[in-house]
Amino acid sequence: MNVHDSEQMAALLADCGYKTTANVKLADLVLLNTCAIREKAAQKAYSELGRIGLLKKQNPNLVIGVGGCLAQHLGSKFHKMIQHLDFVFGTHNIHRLPEMVATVEKNREKITKIDFHKSCMSIGIYAPPANGARSAFVSIMQGCNNFCAYCVVPYLRGRETSRPPEGIIEEITKLASAGIKEVTLLGQNVNSYGNTLEKQTTFAQLIKEIGAIEGIERIRFTTSHPRDLSEALINCFADEKKLCEHIHLPVQSGSNRILRLMNRGYTREDYLKKVDRLRQVCPGISITSDIIVGFPGETEKDYQETIDMMEKIRFDSTFSFKYSERKGTAAESLEGKISEPEKQQRLKYLQDLQNRHTMQKNMELEGSIQKVLIEGRSKNSEYDLMGRTSSWKIVNFKGNSELIGKLTDVKITKSFLHSLRGKLIEEVGNVHRDESIGVDN
Ligand code: SF4
Repeated sequence: MNVHDSEQMAALLADCGYKTTANVKLADLVLLNTCAIREKAAQKAYSELGRIGLLKKQNPNLVIGVGGCLAQHLGSKFHKMIQHLDFVFGTHNIHRLPEMVATVEKNREKITKIDFHKSCMSIGIYAPPANGARSAFVSIMQGCNNFCAYCVVPYLRGRETSRPPEGIIEEITKLASAGIKEVTLLGQNVNSYGNTLEKQTTFAQLIKEIGAIEGIERIRFTTSHPRDLSEALINCFADEKKLCEHIHLPVQSGSNRILRLMNRGYTREDYLKKVDRLRQVCPGISITSDIIVGFPGETEKDYQETIDMMEKIRFDSTFSFKYSERKGTAAESLEGKISEPEKQQRLKYLQDLQNRHTMQKNMELEGSIQKVLIEGRSKNSEYDLMGRTSSWKIVNFKGNSELIGKLTDVKITKSFLHSLRGKLIEEVGNVHRDESIGVDN
């Protein structure tokens, strides 16, 4: 979501005559888009702002702005903490960026804008795709009403607001005419899309409407709350051919006691049932998740229930974290805080287990033919192209640049932990044949 917010900021500033530069020393304006989901992200932002401040010594006219969740959280306190900041803007104020920059440039005054707006104007800013891009993010909602005990998002992104479907369809149609083939629909909890709209609509209906847009070949979305994963949405994985075979479904814990303390609103049994249904309707679906270890009060037994859940489900991959205390959240006052070494030990075992599962899942794909959307040249070899399968796995294979942006069949020849190796399949009439170019690795 932050990546897309940054794209929107760059688009707004491009309209004011700014261009992006890869060399920060040449910049007249530096914006730092921050995250506050974990303490580590906040610490990174402070040290980056310190480095950016040094540039002001060489260029006193440099304008420095900070946005995102940390800016929303600190507001005007940010100016007191970091003197060289010119403006601070929150998550609902991206659309006011041109006005803020113009005021700072003209009056050199310090600005803070962190008010929330009922219908967030910052969701629907159109960011034209970069030259040659085939995938784009599209925000469909902002904020969250769930108040999970560990999470700052509802306080920093505001309450849930859905964007009317007409604007979303218009934006995706425009992206399709600009060459975009794959869209990723963004929201804190896309499954509850439509709840705040006057005209009754659901996320499943929105997916169907997007599926009818000419030129769009793939639809992805993130993130899904397991409680709100409806039967209608599960069925989309069978009925809507453009919907990719991947769902990111954060489980967070396998213990019912911890799920209750986290205020997640589902049990491990509910979650397992939904995973079963997803695999019934779409047997090849890739399921990824988020897990927190060391939540306050998590006993060895609770932790083992998470491990057991992982063994039962065998996720394709997970993002796993040690619990990080955030000020103002319900979990802050919970007793039974887990020590750092204990959290570290639990995380290490869990990540090793996940690596084994990921490797097994990837090995199961060896010999299969996968449709791959080719994103560009591989980072690792100038002879290779890189693309993603419908299940969100990276595939590297030999091929020429003319294929970039195309959806192509690739035979998987070898699996690794973080990627797959493949061979291009050239379609001759209805017959597939391997395009064996060079040596595979
Ligand atoms: S659903 Fe996600 S964004 Fe919302 S409070 Fe829970 S963890 Fe945070």
